[in-house]
Amino acid sequence: MTLPLSGIPFLNKRIKFPVTPHIVGGLTTSKQLREIADLADQYDGSLKIVGNTITIMGLTLADGEKVIAELGCKSESFIAKAVRSVSFCPGKPSCPRALQDSTALGLELDEEFFGQELPGKLRIAVSGCPNCCVEPLVKDIGMYGTAKGYTLAVGGSSGFKAQIAKVVGEKIPAAEIPSIIRSILAYYRAQGKSKERLGQTIDRLGWTEFIEKTIPSQYLHSK
Ligand code: SF4
Repeated sequence: MTLPLSGIPFLNKRIKFPVTPHIVGGLTTSKQLREIADLADQYDGSLKIVGNTITIMGLTLADGEKVIAELGCKSESFIAKAVRSVSFCPGKPSCPRALQDSTALGLELDEEFFGQELPGKLRIAVSGCPNCCVEPLVKDIGMYGTAKGYTLAVGGSSGFKAQIAKVVGEKIPAAEIPSIIRSILAYYRAQGKSKERLGQTIDRLGWTEFIEKTIPSQYLHSK
């Protein structure tokens, strides 16, 4: 995999880059962790645990590309206006409080949506119960499990202009979530301005129209 900045030759020579393998949902193996540690040693890098993944610091861009290629995974480095790595908690059956299988849904969403290009960056999080351990209410698209399905919230952000997501749907079966997210992303692609977060786009154009276009009526949140 070629990292997006590799077309700028002088950067390649002078600057060190944090290289972040895409470890889906933070689910890894001792074998993969050993490979990452060995490659960090081989290229004289250091390691930092960040969220769901491990960043290898102190590498040149060229070495970073070699590391990603040797690991055989996607990279999370330098992804700007796109869907970021999907966050999800253990959920059923691993967590005793879980009401939904957030790992299965999170893996499915990451497989389909990670890296898709958009007007701005977009974060997705899936929690297995209302405890919201992966903070879905400060994500662009967040959801948490209940006994009757998922509650869906949209428009959150923990960035520079922090914003709490608005609950727009409830009692949504896991099987329906991907198609709803496709509708939300289609709306965002069509309406969003460059670098505008999803919540800002909806604030600008109106929540009523957004909800009508993206959330099936049977799942609308009753206030
Ligand atoms: S959000 Fe709920 S299911 Fe997920 S880890 Fe936290 S307590 Fe467990």
